[in-house]
Amino acid sequence: MNKVVFFTDLKDLHNAVIQFPLQSFSGKKVPLKLHMGEKKNPYFVKPELVKLVVDELKKASADPFLVDTTVAYHGGRHTKTEYLKLANLHGFTMNNLGCDVVIDDSGVSTMIEGRTFEVADHLKDATHIFALSHVKGHIQSGMGGAIKNFGMGGVTKETKIRIHDSSYPVYQKDACTYCGVCAEVCPFHAIKVNEESWDYNEKTCFGCGACVDACPSKALQHQDADLQFLLACSAKACVQDKTVLYLNELKRIAKGCDCDPNAGPIICPDIGYLVGDDPVAIDKASLDLINKVKENVFEKVNKVYPLKQIKYGEAIGLGSSSYQLIRL
Ligand code: SF4
Ligand code: SF4
Repeated sequence: MNKVVFFTDLKDLHNAVIQFPLQSFSGKKVPLKLHMGEKKNPYFVKPELVKLVVDELKKASADPFLVDTTVAYHGGRHTKTEYLKLANLHGFTMNNLGCDVVIDDSGVSTMIEGRTFEVADHLKDATHIFALSHVKGHIQSGMGGAIKNFGMGGVTKETKIRIHDSSYPVYQKDACTYCGVCAEVCPFHAIKVNEESWDYNEKTCFGCGACVDACPSKALQHQDADLQFLLACSAKACVQDKTVLYLNELKRIAKGCDCDPNAGPIICPDIGYLVGDDPVAIDKASLDLINKVKENVFEKVNKVYPLKQIKYGEAIGLGSSSYQLIRL
């Protein structure tokens, strides 16, 4: 069945949101899941847009609060205290938004596809969630949208580390023909191949999986699974059995993600906003709209095929990639 995705600009955002049964959010504490920006990255979702969403939820008699999770690396979001300070600096305050800002550093184990993902406490507790996702490129997954907002952003730092580590390549010497294809496709030059030698630098590898996909001899496998498969599983752990409304912002579409202090240039003109109730459909619609304006731009700049997370999401029952786009 085609999922309906509304394509709108800011002035009709209200009309897009009310197409969905917001009355079920009434009386509920509703986490508004978003990324509140990393140090030196200017592209994150702005408080002015968040305020519009908070006000929409309040109009529906919901009790919204912002939520995100701590991260594994030492930037500005490694601990709750650091992240709250940075969020405050970026304008995400009770004063500006009229709601609490919560950072989770612990979670609850949830099993998906035989693997355990620790879902952030406040997401796990919620029956209703509003997801606000900035769509942009990503060095490991090609793009980041709603699936990545939950798949990496909705889980504890321990799960984040495990997802990253599990996607690194494992080399089987016996199967290798030294064709050099893996070295050619690696965006980070982490592999060097000579006539009878294969060298790999784990320090420069980002676990994107491009080499595993490209190896014609199956001499490369993931430690566990493709990063984009694990992202889809992790996202499912966060949202399954919940009512979730998704807003994707297709503006300031940069090469790299909001976590990256060096996210690179804007690679696609601003497009607008999408609203839907299916993370796979809304990410597919986002990718299609971006590809219409700049064909395969994420693949071209990041050398990683972003459609995989959408296909995996559909395969594991996270959502549907078939959608009907309605322009408001
Ligand atoms: S692509 Fe596969 S077979 Fe070719 S060099 Fe790399 S690991 Fe070996
Ligand atoms: S997983 Fe990605 S970054 Fe790592 S070696 Fe393979 S292609 Fe390079």
